[in-house]
Amino acid sequence: MKTYEIATIDGDGIGPEVCRATVAVLAEACGARLRFVPLDGGAGHYARTGEVLPETTFEACRRADAILHGAAGLPEVTYPDSTEVGNDLHLRLRFRLDLYANVRPIRLYRGAMSPLAGWGPGRIDYVIVRENTEGLYASRGAGTNLRGEVATDTLVMTRRGVERVARFAFELSRQRSGAPRDGRRRVTVCDKANILRSYAFFRAVCQEVARDYPDVELDYAYADAITVHMLKKPDFYDVIVAENMFGDIISDLGAGTVGGLGIAASAELGERHGLFQGAHGSAPDIAGQDLASPVATVLSGALMLRWLGERHGDAALVQDAARLERAVEAVLGAGEVVPRDLGGNASCSAMTEAIRRALG
Ligand code: ATP
Repeated sequence: MKTYEIATIDGDGIGPEVCRATVAVLAEACGARLRFVPLDGGAGHYARTGEVLPETTFEACRRADAILHGAAGLPEVTYPDSTEVGNDLHLRLRFRLDLYANVRPIRLYRGAMSPLAGWGPGRIDYVIVRENTEGLYASRGAGTNLRGEVATDTLVMTRRGVERVARFAFELSRQRSGAPRDGRRRVTVCDKANILRSYAFFRAVCQEVARDYPDVELDYAYADAITVHMLKKPDFYDVIVAENMFGDIISDLGAGTVGGLGIAASAELGERHGLFQGAHGSAPDIAGQDLASPVATVLSGALMLRWLGERHGDAALVQDAARLERAVEAVLGAGEVVPRDLGGNASCSAMTEAIRRALG
């Protein structure tokens, strides 16, 4: 049976606890089929050594079959321009490994109460595909601050970049069973095409790609309006594709509608590499106290198993992914071991044990 090498970077804050929890759960789910390779990196590592992503870590990530990451960033570890160092860990991995599609499933699980009234399990079930290598964040480190009077950052869009992420979104919709509201496969293009040329270009390229997918409905929403739609008619959405910064913002909003950042999984995918981490940051306020929920990272681990399984034609791994998601849902649904961010009082280690038991 094929085995897989998983590069793991704990990172900072709650990163080490949620990463270790996920390694334990994945080992339970897949046994010896995964070989974990622990690696250095993050804001704490930068403070000690001057490197946020050591070259040895990058090379090991490049060689591995997949990358599992806890979280990186410490508010006090900043560059002279005041931006946070920690973000550079995954930003550099994103750019150097060309992880162009950030996949963020927004799914309401049994036992995870939505703050929106009247929505039950499965009634919110869509995926945000955030373009991950261009947009406004592409100019990180290259913006200007002129004499403390004027500051600029440039929004970057290329035909190749938009085309491939749009295609990714349409392909993903084809694999899904449509929006909960009407079962229709739908890709919603989220932009501000009414305001900026770059966003009008984003929309136009998405329209061109859509012609190859007549079986998938094409829908549009302005980035401001979609924040209301996501609250009022979340069941309408199947796949949403968005520019980098808009995708960043609306995916946190989406996470909020299904229980919060502690339950929101994330996968950053390219043609050859995949990085998996919870959608949350390093949450330094609760770090090191066994208070964090490991659920987001564990569910990201399930995304990793599915991605690896599909990529390598390994049906057992795809089944393990589904089994792991069912185990998480069974624990949350039973309501006995519930993480603090979902209204319970279970510690990180108690959640980890409960998911492991449910797998067994
Ligand atoms: P970043 O900018 O790196 O995404 P952030 O500043 O948005 O990070 P997070 O670290 O994501 O902030 O967390 C925001 C808050 O949400 C935390 O302070 C914490 O209270 C809560 N939180 C985040 N992740 C978890 C988790 N896994 N379990 C419990 N609470 C969490």
